[in-house]
Amino acid sequence: MKEHDLLSSDIRFVKGVGEKRASAFYSLGIHTAGDLLSHYPRAYEDRTVYKKIIECEHDETVCIRATVSSALRKNVIRKNMTIYTAKLSDGTGVIEAVWFNMRFLDNQIKVGSEFIFYGKIQTSPKKRIQTPIFERIGAQKQTGRIVPVYPLSSGLTQKIISASVADVLNRTCGTLKDPIPETIRKKYNLCDIEKAYRQIHFPTSAKELEYARHRFIFEELFFMQAALFMLKGRRNKLSAIPIKDCNEMPDFIKSLPFALTNAQNRVLTEILSDIKNDTPMNRLVQGDVGSGKTIIAACAMFAAAKSGMQSALMAPTEILAAQHYESLNSLFSPLGINVELLTGSMTAKAKKEALSRIKNGESIVIVGTHALFSEQVEFNNLNLVITDEQHRFGVNQRKLFSDKGANPHTLVMTATPIPRTLALVVYGDLEVSAIDELPPGRQKIDTFPVGENMRERIYAFIKKEVAAGHQAYIVCPLVEESEQLDLKSVTEYAQTLSDEIFPDLSVAFLHGKMKASQKDTVMTHFAAGDIDVLVATSVIEVGVNVPNATIMVVENAERFGLSQLHQLRGRVGRGKDKAYCILFNQSKQTYAQERMEVMKRTNDGFIIAEKDLELRGPGEFFGTRQHGLPPLNIANLYSDLDVLTETTKAVRALLDEDPTLSLPQNQPILAKIREIFKQNITFS
Ligand code: ADP
Ligand code: MG
Repeated sequence: MKEHDLLSSDIRFVKGVGEKRASAFYSLGIHTAGDLLSHYPRAYEDRTVYKKIIECEHDETVCIRATVSSALRKNVIRKNMTIYTAKLSDGTGVIEAVWFNMRFLDNQIKVGSEFIFYGKIQTSPKKRIQTPIFERIGAQKQTGRIVPVYPLSSGLTQKIISASVADVLNRTCGTLKDPIPETIRKKYNLCDIEKAYRQIHFPTSAKELEYARHRFIFEELFFMQAALFMLKGRRNKLSAIPIKDCNEMPDFIKSLPFALTNAQNRVLTEILSDIKNDTPMNRLVQGDVGSGKTIIAACAMFAAAKSGMQSALMAPTEILAAQHYESLNSLFSPLGINVELLTGSMTAKAKKEALSRIKNGESIVIVGTHALFSEQVEFNNLNLVITDEQHRFGVNQRKLFSDKGANPHTLVMTATPIPRTLALVVYGDLEVSAIDELPPGRQKIDTFPVGENMRERIYAFIKKEVAAGHQAYIVCPLVEESEQLDLKSVTEYAQTLSDEIFPDLSVAFLHGKMKASQKDTVMTHFAAGDIDVLVATSVIEVGVNVPNATIMVVENAERFGLSQLHQLRGRVGRGKDKAYCILFNQSKQTYAQERMEVMKRTNDGFIIAEKDLELRGPGEFFGTRQHGLPPLNIANLYSDLDVLTETTKAVRALLDEDPTLSLPQNQPILAKIREIFKQNITFS
């Protein structure tokens, strides 16, 4: 059989695998012989360490070479519980081996027989080796080696998996084609495919194992990046309508109520020079909360409008969309540029009118939620699409955009800081800009993690700040916006605060289940200063801008992720006044306290994201799935950053030489890319 056939053949073709085992393999996602080879061990047991009995230390797991020096003793403790013991010696000392319920030992453990024993050592009350595996010298399969530990499902054992893998390896021996060309393997010192499979499943040493693992990590990242970079290549060949420099831009910038920071100027220049091109811009702007991303979007939209083209700004929530609408409208309407708001919850009539103004081109600047991309929306000449606070930008999302305009320029703005190298991989086909500077005069938001005992003092503090003319947010956690119970608690809590704690203040509440028009009303009143204390769920997490608010109180702060707390905190400290963030921590766990301490210590979103990552682990913080990338089997986007740097180089070099991967020697690469991305991307 050819290698290709065998690897893609059903797992039942493997020796010893019948219907029953096959379905056990299926339940692990292993359908073919090739899947089996890629079912890497989740861990390894190093059974290569040999010790003399005299050197054995408590709790270590080791191999000893010893002779049985006393007859096997049987001790029936109770029904179904028999303990077997025997003394072993190696000339340096004596140790007792202990097994439970192993009847066949009788035939094997005989005085004078020599074995390699592998097990965990105990030194008190006496020197023991617990339930050791033992094998004759020279016939070792389980000892003296690094032994893989596979993820299992019922019906499978480590032994079955190892034997099945061995069978596939033996049958494919000498026929496996390496998807990584030899030139690249040489250059980056990568193990060839066959050796890599052997070593990852049956390592002969820790060093060889590492070499093999490195190869597979490299391979995975290499192909993922190659696919993403090819998408980018394709985009470069797409044609877009340029948005030309406009003479009015300098005056527009001068007319703003503040001077742009250096970082804002730099990023704006990058954007304006992108959109001048006849290939579509595809840029990600990263900037911490409050770094001033909105105005950058506004400038780009201004340029589009001056070229007579429509632009759209998409926000993740209706509140934020409404707020962007307000600020853009106040900037643009005096200049005769019509701004339109489109959200899912508008009345049918209002929506119909908005849709018609969008279609006939009367509205030039359009703001909305993802409703902007629903089928009914027809644009007149959409040429710039901006997505705000889009944390979950998938590789396929651009397709939505390009369905709406010819090939509009796209810009994504986010406050979720991810390391630049990583952004490059995840957003592979995006250019990345960073607004790495806050507007001048911003003060550190003082952050206080507190317990219940501080509640009275915090309420008093809120009263004092309100008396000084400021406003406060109180955020209650709502894990799911639909949780009725929590929902009730927000409204009830607001009521209690209003009736009992702050009878003289104006208290309102806001949650995700309210009608959009209600939410708007509340936000408008809050922004206007009519509401002193706003009790809200995390719907206000992103983007909302009310500079007069100076206190952010978070209830049950331990239930929020650090980056989320940072977002919440970013709702205050947006003006010139000193701002405070109070985190009520109802958890006594040190883990929770540690997290609160991070918030207290730093205002830097980047450090917070890293801590979040460290404390929660990359899985939760950053699933690859939500980005539309293929799931990674062995590589880790965070811990393998150094490999990533190498694969980036390798992919660049490859595509510089052969941008469409049409050279014969690169066909295996192209085939592999198609295979990986078959569900995600269609290459034409
Ligand atoms: P974010 O990056 O979090 O979206 P915003 O765009 O909402 O930040 O800006 C935060 C606040 O800072 C707004 O009130 C905005 O008007 C103000 N701002 C933006 N840029 C500057 C600047 N260069 N100087 C002073 N204030 C600025
Ligand atoms: Mg914003």
